[in-house]
Formats: sequence, C-alpha cells, structure tokens
Amino acid sequence: MLWRAVVLLATTVVVISSEKVRYDKYRVYRVHPAGDEQLRFLASFAKYHNDIQFWKEPRVVNKPADVMVSPEMQTSFLEGLEANGIQATVYVDNVQTLIDNERGVRRQGESFGWEDYYTLEEIHGWLNSLSETYPDVVTPIVGGSSYEGREILGVNITFAPGNPVVVVEGGIHAGEWIGPATATWIINQILTTNDSAVRDTVRQFNFYVFPNLNPDGYVYTWTTDRNWRGTRTPYTPCYGADPNRNWDFHWGEEGASSTVCSSDFAGPEPFSEVETRTFSEFLASLGDDFQVYLDFHSYGQMLMFPYGLYSVTAPNYDDLLVITTKAVEALTARYGTQYTFGSIVDTIYAAAGSSLDWVMGVLGKRFVFVWELRDKGQYGQLLPADQIIPNSEETFDSILSILRDVLAQIESSHS
Ligand SMILES: [Zn+2]
Repeated sequence: MLWRAVVLLATTVVVISSEKVRYDKYRVYRVHPAGDEQLRFLASFAKYHNDIQFWKEPRVVNKPADVMVSPEMQTSFLEGLEANGIQATVYVDNVQTLIDNERGVRRQGESFGWEDYYTLEEIHGWLNSLSETYPDVVTPIVGGSSYEGREILGVNITFAPGNPVVVVEGGIHAGEWIGPATATWIINQILTTNDSAVRDTVRQFNFYVFPNLNPDGYVYTWTTDRNWRGTRTPYTPCYGADPNRNWDFHWGEEGASSTVCSSDFAGPEPFSEVETRTFSEFLASLGDDFQVYLDFHSYGQMLMFPYGLYSVTAPNYDDLLVITTKAVEALTARYGTQYTFGSIVDTIYAAAGSSLDWVMGVLGKRFVFVWELRDKGQYGQLLPADQIIPNSEETFDSILSILRDVLAQIESSHS
C-alpha cells in the first residue's frame, strides 16, 4: 500500500500544464508476468499515468510487457515486483535521452522529407502541396475532425475510376511518430516510383492516405508530452480516450479499460471520440470500392489482421494468414528485419474497439491489416529518424505483396 501513496503524491507533482514534460531518468523495464496474479498486480499500476506508463501492456501470461517508471517510483516498483515474484530487466535506462536523440536532419531549403520527423502543420502543408504538383491524380481530402477542431487531412490518389480503394491510416496513437512518417513516405513512393513493377501494381488501386488520425494528440506530443497516446477530449480527472479502443464493434468487451486516466481507456461509450466517429462515417461513405485497409502503429515488428477478440474469428482467416506470411517474407528480404504475424489476438493481445475490427466486423471488408512497425523495444516509439526510410522501404515491400495477393483474389472471384 505504501507505494500507492507515493504514486499519488508524485502524480500531482508531474502534472504541470503548458510546460514540456521531461522524462529524465525514467526507465523502461521489461517484465515477465508468469501468472494471472502477476498480471493483475501489473495492471493495477495502469491508473497512475504519469509515473508509470505501459509501453506494452501486460495482458498475456508469459508475454513480456514494457513499463516506463519515473525515477521517484523505481524503488517501490522494484519492491512490488520482487514481492510478487516478477522478473524484470532494465530495457531503457533514460527515456529523455531517447527523446533528445530521435530527431534527424533537415537539408537546407527542404520543406519536407524523411530524414526527420515533421509537425502536423508541416505534414498538412505537404499534403496540400501535392495537389498542385500532381493535379491529375491527387486531391486533398478531409476524412474527419478532432475534438479541438483540427482536420483529419489526407490525400486521395486516383489513377482510374472504379479501381479498388486502399485506405491507409497512421497516427491514431499520438506518440507513434513512425506511423505518420511511413504513411507520407508511401504517398511519395506511390507518386514518384520509377520501378515499373511497383508502378504497375499501385496504378491498379486508388488510395486514401491519412497520416494523422489523431491530430490533437499528435500536436500535443510536439508541444507538451512526447509520450501522449490518446485523444485530447477532456474527461474527469484526465484528458483523452484511446481512439483505438473506441470503435463500435464488441466495444469494451476485452483488452480495453473502463477507467478514465488509463492509457487504454475505451471512452465513456462507443464513438465517444469525435475523431473515431467522424472518420468511421467517412469510411462507411466509401462504399463497395473500398476493399483494403492498412493501419500503422508502433512498436513491436508485427503484421496482424482482425480480430483483437477471442470471441470472433475472421471469416477468411486462412487466406489472411497466407497473405501475411508472404508479406512478412517480402519485408524481411530487404534488411533482415524480423516480424511476427497472425491475428491480433494471437500475436499481441485482445484489444476490442479497434478501427481494424470495426472495418472488418461492421463494414465487412476482407483485406484489413495492421503493422506494429520498428522496433522491438530498444527505442520503442522514440525511434531515431534515421530509421524512417529503411522502415518505410521494408514496410512498402510487404504492402506490395499484400496488394498483389488482393489483385489475384479479386481477379479469381470475377472469373
Ligand atoms: Zn498504437
């Protein structure tokens, strides 16, 4: 009980608005829960957002979880682990050092690129500029809005009317900066590739790409707290819900929290968040041409498909397993990066209320995939910017593999 009192005290100290939150000497521990009792003990930490934050949730026995702990809390945290017989290793020694080192380089006169991370304003500026550079194929498109009134801005790339539509989404979790960076790299690649085989594949689809599904959260990660995850809807006593637990399909049933302040708080009701509600309406409006949904998160190096539920299995599970097996082979072939793959619930954990599950479960789309991009925890979501391009290249290899398999399936269903 003592550590609880310490947590409450420390939490009140950390929450100072308008200053940038610092993570000096915050450590990340990789913990190994070996039983349900140990899982429950770790989960009880989740309420204390600022001092103890899960980088990877402890949800499954014998699967490691990553827990970030403030310097003030480390002693009592380790005592708690010891009392409960939980093994742990220090995985990141100083989180602030990773934050200080993640940014990359910007060349003079370059307004956008992939050797550094970019602000929401810069990303939106670049997206809007594309319709001037490629007026015949690119149209800026607003897919929804945020609590604070920002646009969920994307681009529509149309090569030929009636092509199957691919929706690409990144940044639903605010702090996972590699997602938006990868999404913009892919837009650029689709528009500029000189590889005729790549061009042949991408031109048989139309794309809607939304790099930042959670614009308020993304802005907040730049201005105030680099490790912010959710929306910025004001709840009491904490801000925000997890927009990837908020979609209206088996909402709140498994792998989501009903506790405000918890990092995976599912919201007070399905589609309580402006972002998920408006973007789901946009997705529903795309109709039958919409066939493929690709979603970027980090980290963990996993390629997955629905469902994040024990109670429901994808009707085309076997097909999706074959498609992801081939896609991961293509991904690994470039730089040797190792991915695990399978359904969400088999590969990572149950996570009811994700966009992915809703797109398959409610809209009935069959080709629905999510990446947990680089890395495996050395940097977590604080991935150094010099990994943006190699990460994007290998990811795009896996996307091309998926798109070619989708084309083959569409053709065979027509013949
Ligand atoms: Zn995520």
